[in-house]
Amino acid sequence: MKFAVTSKGDQKSNRIKAIMEQYLLDFDLERNIKEPDLVISVGGDGTFLHAVHHYFHRLKQTAFIGVHTGHLGFYADWLPEEVEKLVIEVAKQKFEIVEYPLLSLKIFYENKKEAERFLALNETTIKKVEGSVVLDVTIKGEHFERFRGDGLCVSTPSGSTAYNKALGGAIIHPSLSTMQITEMSSINNRVYRTIGSPLILPSHHVCQFKPVDKEQSFIMTIDHITKSVENVTALECSVAKERIRFARFRSFPFWKRVHDSFISDECY
Ligand code: NAD
Repeated sequence: MKFAVTSKGDQKSNRIKAIMEQYLLDFDLERNIKEPDLVISVGGDGTFLHAVHHYFHRLKQTAFIGVHTGHLGFYADWLPEEVEKLVIEVAKQKFEIVEYPLLSLKIFYENKKEAERFLALNETTIKKVEGSVVLDVTIKGEHFERFRGDGLCVSTPSGSTAYNKALGGAIIHPSLSTMQITEMSSINNRVYRTIGSPLILPSHHVCQFKPVDKEQSFIMTIDHITKSVENVTALECSVAKERIRFARFRSFPFWKRVHDSFISDECY
């Protein structure tokens, strides 16, 4: 089996990366940065997101696993103290694969024939530096609402515990192939009206956001990436055909991860 280990770049993560690489080489596994079967990210959820984006072109062949060197992460859920145990499990070369949904984002530009396509593991957000975001929201080709506010977030189920949660979105189990739209401070008064609640869409629904004003520039985030876009005619989100594959070496149920991350054992 071919493996690659990525690191956050700090001293602790680099040290654990070096230890893991040596152990895995001692077990006669092949280090292959270009075409790994397994990517082990060492750092935090941010490091994990970087690693996944780096290998998005190999989703069918590559599985991922995360070790955290800071606080417990959602993707980086192995402790540094468990590294030896993890290496022994990896060396057995037999592991379960758990697949989670991804988000597909298409950006259509005024002056380009082809849309630009991105995949997100957590979410994409649409914001502006100045003024309100004004977008016509269409679901499955039908006009739904005209949104005015700070912005919109479209997240995956595994991203539902990230930015989406801070916006009051629901936490969704990643076995469900859905995407969720949450608002950022929408303007609601006698003139402007938005639904106000998060929307959870199934995998066969496509939503489009069309800029209403002539000004078609936005600040977009795609997971950890921030991008400014101009001359946008439409943004399109759907549940991606592609899925991410997690290597599972032990059981760590999603709801236990939610509990351990957000509710301490001292809470009732
Ligand atoms: P980062 O690594 O500092 O991540 C920010 C925080 O988000 C970290 O605590 C990380 O553990 C947590 N996180 C990331 N993915 C998560 C997930 N799926 N479930 C629960 N927590 C998760 O910053 P970055 O490298 O720029 O990471 C980008 C991510 O940060 C974005 O995808 C977004 O979800 C998140 N974010 C959250 C907020 C917010 O909660 N208000 C604001 C901006 C960005």
